[in-house]
Amino acid sequence: TCGICVEKCPFDAIEIINLPQELDDEPTHRYGDNAFALYGLPVPSPGNVTGILGPNGIGKSTAVKALAGELVPNLGEFDDDANWEAVLDRYRGSELQNYITQLMDDDITVARKPQYVDQIPKQFDGNTRELLEQTDERGVLDELVERLSIQPIMDQSIDSISGGELQRVAIAATLARDADFYFLDEITPYLDIGQRMVVARLIRELADDPEADRSMLVVEHDLAILDLLADTLHVAYGEPGVFGVMTDPKSVRNGINEYLEGYLNNENMRIRPESITFEEHAPRETSRGTPLVEYPEISKSYGDGEFSLDVDAGMIYEGEVLGVVGPNGIGKSTLAKLFAGNIDPDDGELDFNLDISYKPQYIEIDQPMRVDSFLSSITDEFGTSYWNTEIAQPLQLDPIMEQQLTDLSGGERQRVAIAACLSEPADLYVLDEPSAHLDVEQRVQATSAIRRYAENHDATALVIDHDIYMIDLLADRLMVFDGEPAKHGHATEPQEMRAGMNDFLADLDITFRRDEGTGRPRINKPGSQKDSQQKRDGEYYYSA
Ligand code: ADP
Ligand code: ADP
Ligand code: MG
Repeated sequence: TCGICVEKCPFDAIEIINLPQELDDEPTHRYGDNAFALYGLPVPSPGNVTGILGPNGIGKSTAVKALAGELVPNLGEFDDDANWEAVLDRYRGSELQNYITQLMDDDITVARKPQYVDQIPKQFDGNTRELLEQTDERGVLDELVERLSIQPIMDQSIDSISGGELQRVAIAATLARDADFYFLDEITPYLDIGQRMVVARLIRELADDPEADRSMLVVEHDLAILDLLADTLHVAYGEPGVFGVMTDPKSVRNGINEYLEGYLNNENMRIRPESITFEEHAPRETSRGTPLVEYPEISKSYGDGEFSLDVDAGMIYEGEVLGVVGPNGIGKSTLAKLFAGNIDPDDGELDFNLDISYKPQYIEIDQPMRVDSFLSSITDEFGTSYWNTEIAQPLQLDPIMEQQLTDLSGGERQRVAIAACLSEPADLYVLDEPSAHLDVEQRVQATSAIRRYAENHDATALVIDHDIYMIDLLADRLMVFDGEPAKHGHATEPQEMRAGMNDFLADLDITFRRDEGTGRPRINKPGSQKDSQQKRDGEYYYSA
């Protein structure tokens, strides 16, 4: 046996499955005795965008901090004299030698965007303009502010702006610097697809700047964006929280495909027992089962009508998953709150008479309570084998059951909130941005947990998300929002996937093709033959 499957192999494996074992070699960095160890480092390369893809807790941020010169790797020794000479000795003759030499000689400048932008207000006291002016070494502030739509918050204090705004300000502040090496630790959290595309283009343009030899290194979980943006990719694998290994660079296409496949070719290493597959389901034919609810046209505005939302009348069927897509600030969360009965419409009536379970976008769990006590207070099924298989296991709850809710990281809190939402007996489950803070595997597992739960319970789910892979895997039909963010939003009735995706992507002016090997959706290069053809055909997503 391979060590995982003791009795009968559930994978019908012809090959022996070797899951990663901690290496015998000395690590690049270890945080302490028996603490997390990182093996290898990614290699930034001039004129290129280098990506890093891997699960949470595998050492991506550690590697970025090391290359940015903020952490001297200790090579596994804890005698307090970690130094770059020793690191250079270790990497002599490798592609990193050159980089480390330059870093030691102070020959290069680096700019880093940290992963947790929420920390920025604690470190900076002032408004957006002051922060950005301080970093504008390239004299490009006006352009960045315009393209990232930062104008409305220029005079607002940094500690009063939202997560998505803070993310764009942090990216602008990093890209405004005149550096040789840029390190961007996660670029999409809180951003909508249009904003993600803008950020990807800005990073690409800096890499392609013929006047300078800039290297860009990007950590990212949104595969569509990573695929579009990166030239090469380091896959990080291992055991989260225990050890992580950086592979040599792969082409971005192979890197993503091998990652999804769960098998690294060059390394001859299985990193996950099962593969993640994108079935090329032609847009799902809705089976038009039993109607769950028919709702009329509704509208809602805030304040003196600074923002107004109009929702077309529609019908929701039992057992379907409705995807909801649209830009930030367009009224998606408002719709979720209307359906959940948390707020009332101005016009139109929602007398649903349904049990609704709602996971809000911003999760506030601040009871001083353990995860297991919290979840068992929600459902009697807590701890049954059924609940364990359907909820605890796909949401990886076991390792955090004994932790306090208040101690959880963003991704852990998200998984507990999804579990809490699905554990509540209901007719309609409303989940607002469940992918936020999750890594690729967690997204896929959360997605299948939501789908399976809806199917097994004839329950209906409404899921708002910006991750197009997640929506593709999850949704039977799509509600599309358009309008002008922060002013006016309009929601269509639920549409077939093909029509909905066309509607949504035409607005964004992007088309997708399917990867030949894995069937996963890939964004076409603007102006490429496929892009132009699909736009002519009006097939933005499900092209032949
Ligand atoms: P990733 O960016 O891939 O999510 P990180 O590099 O942030 O992973 O962390 C990898 C592991 O190292 C985690 O288990 C984390 O808890 C641990 N770790 C990170 N920073 C420290 C630190 N300063 N001291 C001890 N452990 C740390
Ligand atoms: P989305 O979920 O699509 O990002 P929201 O529904 O959260 O959008 O918000 C739509 C608009 O309504 C935004 O401009 C937001 O600032 C505004 N808004 C949301 N909630 C309130 C409220 N309680 N009072 C006033 N304005 C609000
Ligand atoms: Mg990280």
